[in-house]
Amino acid sequence: MPNVIINRFLLLAAPAILRIPLLLVFFYALVLAPAYAAVMVIDKQWPQNTSLKVVFLDCSKDQQRLVEQVAPQWLAKSNLSFQFYDSFEKAPKETHIRISFLVHSGSRLGNHRDYCSDKATMNLFDLTTGQLSDSSARRLILHEFGHALGLVHEFRSPYWPYGTNVLQKMLPNCYPKMERIGYSKQGAILRCKAVNRPVDPKKSEKTAFDEFSVMNYPTIFTTQDGSKKTISAQSRLSYLDRYAIQLWYPGRAVPYICGSTPSLKQTNRRIK
Ligand SMILES: [Zn+2]
Repeated sequence: MPNVIINRFLLLAAPAILRIPLLLVFFYALVLAPAYAAVMVIDKQWPQNTSLKVVFLDCSKDQQRLVEQVAPQWLAKSNLSFQFYDSFEKAPKETHIRISFLVHSGSRLGNHRDYCSDKATMNLFDLTTGQLSDSSARRLILHEFGHALGLVHEFRSPYWPYGTNVLQKMLPNCYPKMERIGYSKQGAILRCKAVNRPVDPKKSEKTAFDEFSVMNYPTIFTTQDGSKKTISAQSRLSYLDRYAIQLWYPGRAVPYICGSTPSLKQTNRRIK
C-alpha cells in the first residue's frame, strides 16, 4: 500500500483510536460495573414533567440569584423545570420547594407531598455566613437540590463498596444537629439512624458507581479492610449525576405557561 494512503488512514483513524480508552471507561461505568452510586428513592420521585415551584421565604436578592443560577444545572435535558418565586405571597397555592436561610442547611428528600404548607423544605443557612468560597456555595446548592430531587447520600447505596463504618461515623455529628432543629433526644437518635442506613435496593433506582458525585458526603473513614478512605467534596455535577437525572426524568421540560400547573396526581411513570 502506498505510504500516502497509509498515512491518510492513520490520520483518519487516530482520533477514533484515541477515543477507545474513554469509551471503555464509559462502557464499564454504565454497563459492567456493579450498580452502586447515584441513588434515588422511588417513592420520593416527582411526577414526570413537573414544573417544580420553588419559593424563597427569606433571603437577599444575591442569595436568591445564586440559587436560581446554580440549581437548574441539575435539570438540563430532563423533563423537570424550576419556577422561582421571590416571596410566599407571590407564589401559587401549591409549592414544592420552599427555601429558608435562617437556620442550618439541609433539605427534605424529593417529593414530600406537603405542597400547601408554608414551612421550609430546604434550608441554606450556610450561604448567609459569608464564610463559603464560591465553589463551596455552589456545592451546597447542588447537593441540597440533589436531595430535593430525590437523591440520597452515596454512602446509603445498598452497593456502597466501602462497608458500613462510614454510616456509624455519621451518627455522633447527626444527633446534636437534629436536636438543634427541634427533634427530642430520642427523636434525634431515631431520625439519625433512619437517614444513615442503606436504602432498600427494591425501593431505589441506582446508576453505576461514581465517586465524583456531588451527592457524596466529604469524609475520611476506615473501610472494612482497615484502610483509610477519603471522599472529597465535589462542587460540580459529575457526568453520572447528570446522567441519573436525565435517565429518571427523561426528555425536555414543557415550557411553563402561567396557570398551567401540571397535576401532581398524574401517574408517575416508572423508569426501568
Ligand atoms: Zn446531604
